[in-house]
Formats: sequence, C-alpha cells, structure tokens
Amino acid sequence: MQIEMSRRKFLQGTVAMSIVGGSAVSATNLLAKDDKVEKKLTFTTKTGEAKELKLVPTLCEMCVNKCAAIARMEDGVVTKLDPNPMFPKSKNMLCPRGNAGIQALYDPDRLKYPLVRIGEKGDGKYKRVTWDEAYEAILNGTDRFKGLAAILEEEEDNRSTIGYCAGEGMAEHTYKVFMQDKLGSSNFVNHASICLQTTVSGYALTIGGYGQADLENANYVIMAGANRAEAIVTPDTMDLFKRTKGRGAKLIVVDPRFTNTASHADKWLPIEVGTDLAFVLALTYVAIEENIYNKKFVELNFNGFEEYKEHILTSKYTPEWAEKITGIRASDIRQVARDFMAAAPRAIYYQGRRTAWSKQDFQLRRAQAIFSAMGGGIDREGGIIFGKKLPLGKHNINTPMYDNAQERIDKKAAAIIGGSGSWIGWRNTILEEKAAYPVRSMFVYKQNPMLSIPNTAKTKQLFEKMDLVVVIDTMPSDTAMMADVILPECTYLEREDPVKSFGSAQPAIALRQKVIDPMYDTKPVIEIIRGLAEKVSRPLFEITKKFDSEVQDAIKERGEESVYKEDGFDLADAFRHSQEEINKHMVVEKYGEEAYKTLLKEGVYYPNMDKFWKQISNNEFQWYPKKERFYSVVEGEFKSDVFHDTCVDEKEIAVLKKEFKTPSGKVECVLPNLAKRGVSPMPSWDDTQFTQIPEGKFKFITGRHAQFTQNSSSNNVMLLELMPENYLWINKRVAESKGIKFGDNVEVKSKVGQITIKAYPTEKIGPNNLFFIHGFGADSDGLTFAKGNGAADNHIIEDIIEPVFGSAAMHETIVEVRKV
Ligand code: SF4
Repeated sequence: MQIEMSRRKFLQGTVAMSIVGGSAVSATNLLAKDDKVEKKLTFTTKTGEAKELKLVPTLCEMCVNKCAAIARMEDGVVTKLDPNPMFPKSKNMLCPRGNAGIQALYDPDRLKYPLVRIGEKGDGKYKRVTWDEAYEAILNGTDRFKGLAAILEEEEDNRSTIGYCAGEGMAEHTYKVFMQDKLGSSNFVNHASICLQTTVSGYALTIGGYGQADLENANYVIMAGANRAEAIVTPDTMDLFKRTKGRGAKLIVVDPRFTNTASHADKWLPIEVGTDLAFVLALTYVAIEENIYNKKFVELNFNGFEEYKEHILTSKYTPEWAEKITGIRASDIRQVARDFMAAAPRAIYYQGRRTAWSKQDFQLRRAQAIFSAMGGGIDREGGIIFGKKLPLGKHNINTPMYDNAQERIDKKAAAIIGGSGSWIGWRNTILEEKAAYPVRSMFVYKQNPMLSIPNTAKTKQLFEKMDLVVVIDTMPSDTAMMADVILPECTYLEREDPVKSFGSAQPAIALRQKVIDPMYDTKPVIEIIRGLAEKVSRPLFEITKKFDSEVQDAIKERGEESVYKEDGFDLADAFRHSQEEINKHMVVEKYGEEAYKTLLKEGVYYPNMDKFWKQISNNEFQWYPKKERFYSVVEGEFKSDVFHDTCVDEKEIAVLKKEFKTPSGKVECVLPNLAKRGVSPMPSWDDTQFTQIPEGKFKFITGRHAQFTQNSSSNNVMLLELMPENYLWINKRVAESKGIKFGDNVEVKSKVGQITIKAYPTEKIGPNNLFFIHGFGADSDGLTFAKGNGAADNHIIEDIIEPVFGSAAMHETIVEVRKV
C-alpha cells in the first residue's frame, strides 16, 4: 500500500543531480537547469503488505538529541520509524522530524557517488569517479586543483596547512582522529563557536559543568531566548510542557518575540535584544538585597561570594537600572527574583541551547550559573544536574608526531581559543592573511559553513582561496558545491556509528545500528577514512621523511619500517577494524557478552535494565526506579543526619557541601585568571559592548524551528510539507508605516549582504527587531526541493565575535528593510 501524504504527486525514479557517466565523457554541467526535475514533493512511505518484516533498533540523527528508534523494514524497504521505549533519554518519543528521517534515506537528491570537479569552483560541474580515483585526486590533484602531496611538499610538511571542520555527530570523533591525530593538523573548527561554546564554557568555569536542566522535576523555570516548544521538541521539552500552565511548573519566558514557548508561559517578558545580562544581574541584586538566597548553600559552596555581592551592590545593578536597559519593568524583575528563590532549589535559570547571541554572552552565562546556584539548585533533583555516565572500553590509537606541524592560526581571535576554535575568527584570519603560515586545504565533514557561518560572502571567499576542498556529506549542500572532491557518506540508517554512553540521572548506552545496506556508492565515514588513509599514508610519509629531522634520526636508529609502523605514520592502522568490531570490544570489555547481545537486540543497555525497566501503562515507562537515579553525583561532605532524613525540608538537603569540578571545588564567583586575559573576573555589564540601534533601522535576530535541523534537512520533502519557506517577522505597525503587507516581498540589507523574503507583519515582535528562521535560502542546484525557498540568515548576519571564546555574536547585526 502506498501512503499518499500529499496532494502533490509522487516523484518516480528521477534524480535531481544527474552524473556525468565515466571519465571519458566530456564535461557537462552536472547541475544544469535542463537536468533538474520538476519541483514536486514526494514521499516513500509504504506499509502493510510485506512478505518479509524486520525491526531494527537504531538512533535518530535528524537532530543532535539521538532519540532511540525502531526501523521497520518491509521487503528490504524502510517503511516506518517508531520510537524505542527502552531508552531513558528519549522516553518513547520520536518527533515529527525524527519520523521524517526516512526521507533522508530516500531523498532523490542524495550524493550517490564520489565526484571530482571538472568545471570552475562553485559552478557545479563534476564527474562521477570511483573511490580510488577520488582518493587519487585528493592525493595528487587534477589539472584543475592541487593535491595534498604537492601542498604538503610546498609547505615542508606543516600538516596544519590542512584545515578541517565538522558538524555535530556520532562519527565526528572518528573524523577528528584522522585529521588531527593521524594526519596531524591543529586547525580544527566545529559548530561550538556558532552554538553552545559560551554557555558550556561559562557554566564549566563557574559550577564545573554545563549539566542538564532537570525540567521533569523543576518547579520554576526561567527560559530566556531558548524556544523549546518550537525549536527543539525533545522528550525533555515535553517533560516541561506537560507540567506548565498550572500543572506543577511555573515558566517565565524572556524573549524579544512572543514564541510558542512564550504562549505556554505563566509570564512573558519581552526584552531588548542583547540585554539579558542586565536582567540576570538585577535578579542577583534583588536576591542579595532582600537576603532571599540559600545562605547555607552559598556559605558552604561558593568561592568569592562576598566580593561578588559587593560588586553587584556597588555597581547598583538594581531592577530600576535594568529596566532602562532591558525594557522589563523593575517590579517584574523583583517578582521573578522572589519567586525563583521561593521555589529554589527546584528552580532553574535554563542554561540555553544555541547561545551565540551577543558580545556579552560569556558573562551572561556566568551570571546565570551563579544566580541558579544561589538558590541551591545545582546537582540535585529539580535543578541543574550532572548525572552519571556509564564508562565504555578503550580503543587506542597510535599517533605520530610531526615536528613541522604548527599551532592553530586563530589563537589571537579571542581571549581563550580552545580545541574547537572560533569559526569566524579562524576564517577571517586566513582571509585577512594574518596567519603565521598559509592554510591551503579544507576538509569539511557534515557541516555546511556556506549557510551556517555568518557572512556567507566571506565563507565563499575562503573556499575559493583554498587549493583543495574536500567535502564528506550525504547531500549536495551549498558547501559541497564549493568542493574539488565530494565523498558521499551513507545516511544514518545505512551505517553503524560509534557506540555512545549517555550520561544523565538515568544513564544508558545506546547504539545506532545499520538498518539497511548503503544505497548507491556511498560509505560510512570510518570506511571513507580507511580508504583515504590507505591511499595517502605512504606518499605523505615520504614528505615527512624529507622535512622532519626527528623522523630522519629515528629512521637512522631503527629503520624506516619500524618508524612508519610503530610510530603511527601508517595512517590506516587506526581504522582497520570495522565499527561493529570496535563497538563490540568497547562494550564487552566493560559489561560482558550478554550486555552486548542486549544492546544489539534492544538498541539500549544499562546495568539492571532487566530489573529496572517496566511498562507502566500504554505510553508510560520506568527506566530506573526513583531511588536508583543519579540526581546528585558531586562528591562532598554528606551530613548523614540531613541526607537520610526524608522528612527534612528540601532547602536543607541543598546545603550539602559539594566538591565541584572547578579550581576551588566551589561555585566560582570570581575568576582572577580571566583578568590576566583582559576579561572581567566577575559578570559585569559593559555599555561599550552593547550595540545601539540607529533611528529607522533594526537589530536582526534569528532562531531555529523543530521541523528543520539547522540547514541539513532543508531538502526533506516531508518536513517541507510542514513549512515550505521562512517569512520575515516584522512588527505590524512598522510594516503598516512602510506599506508592507503579509506575503509582500521585502529586501533586508545589512553591511555584509542582502536577501529578499516574504513579510509576516505581526504583533509578536517589537518595533526594534526583525526575525526569520534559519535553515532556508539554499542556493545549490543539487537541492531540488530546498533551492530558493525563503532566505538564508547568514547572508546578512555580520561576522562579529564575542571576545572571550570567539563565538559568533549572531544578534548584533543592524539591518534596514524595504518593500520590493
Ligand atoms: S528530537 Fe526528533 S529529530 Fe531529534 S533525535 Fe529525537 S526524534 Fe530525532
């Protein structure tokens, strides 16, 4: 039975991206308009009449959450994805986006074969090649581009001339092991600096970790900027929203837009963009001034609180001061601070998801963490918890040392640059020729910088500047169109990924298993890397031999074969085992054969699962009995009389002395080392870091939507059915004054670019801001269904970075708008 899910017709057997067949065929434009199919939406769901039925537990990859799914295979076709009730993290839920994962597998536009560029960079002319030919092109180049061997020879074996980036994913580590540990480059950038970098670092430096918000048990939640009801509908999102609106949890939403999350809140506080820090400092002021924080917890667990208290009071961060900056009434600020502390320790200032907003973002996250901790709601039920992680066995790698590889180039881009780098800082260092050496090659895995990094024009320049660009992906994204060589990865339903341990109050190990053999000539990343490593290993070692005096000496002492093999220069040695073998080893080493069998059968394993797991009703499960959960894991002086008395007030339980993973073992209010790097050691408001909005202009803001995962699912027709394009949110009165009506085309222009988009005049946004959702505006001709839908935010977002960790400050761009 074919399920017709749309008015639109089924697309039969055609592909958007036809391939030049064989190397002897003359060059044609792979993505020429003539080759494009008519733009129709199509679904491939079929169920009900199968001769052969197979159910395979796996993990969703439609967003970062990794919910457990059971794939239904009928006569070799994946026809349905259902939730897997065994996994405590996903609680028998698979959201609409997870259900649409089936279309990631059957997307007609998928990359199907290795491709090598035969036209100009960016013009979409490629030819189909074998995997060996693709690896050969990477090693030795073609008449169109240089290969790794020539680049490394010219750079005298400075391996860091090869830049590389990756999006979040379970195989990101495998790719990084190859690029960093085996190939030897220090120049890695990933999604952290456009995502969670400031909040993860802010919380880690303050309370010892980012933790998880226990939304299931919190009684009071302040959610600022995070749009959980709309942007990421995960099981913990549902934990919260099934308890809002008088059902146990009070929700305060602070957001310049009236979002779906705001519509579920007890109170919505519209805030001036970029002023959240002032709001949190004023909450802190109220808690101190009115003496309503958890004094015992602070006394036992805070470092530098007296200094911080003094700083907050003498800086006069009063609600009246904050009202002028944030636009939130002082009386509301007072009320929120009082209600939060009254509900504490079951009170959370939600840490935030994508937090690359403003230049003051790092101090904001520190201030949030301190304010939450002042209520005592850290490392305890209903607060921010750290949870437990089940250990896995080890898989060791033999890593070579390259004497000529240099340190990463973006160290000066911000005060603290970690291993994930600053994407904007890194790119701009190359473009502005400020790097200590040239970065001449770029490997891209599962990331689409052309659409995900602010200022697309500069990202395009970056790829144009590179001698060699290699893209590993499942889809012909805008970034793939800038590649010299494209290596097609199979989709998540076609591969086994590294086994993963999920730490939480209810920890578990889960496995993404292969549901179906790879379609087309595609491979999982571990096999892609293995083939590439086998091809380039010896020739690149020849270059190392020529330029690396340490290696020359070692060869004199021990002989070439010994150095090549024993010192890790055989780049393929880390990838000889299959993913399945590695996973088995890592589970069996710690938990034994039976545990591994359970993992394969159920997709999930944790000790005592057979005793703990229970189905309670139709859609209600127990994964761990309450008393077996790990809400509190931080070690400390447990005062047994308090700890074991279940009648004791919760505020008393929160006064345990903890040993947090911070330098002092306490909540760090003051970080003197930051001052040495020019960063305020305590959260402080800095007027000079705030971007004012000139008369007649707007501050542009962006966000996510649960139907799309950044821009990676923009071609998924099941999801496009739910939201085919994005619209510009513009305040209704502002729109009227400019003669803009719903559906009118408008131009939004910033210093770095301009886009055209349809208008959505609404009262749900204030007069100072414009907004549209990220994930649209793809330009690749290979994306039949995504191309030309709406607009891309990063075409207009300026490349401004926050100065502490070099994250993108995505809400600092000033724009103007006009009807076109
Ligand atoms: S939240 Fe949805 S898209 Fe994300 S992993 Fe879970 S089911 Fe998949």
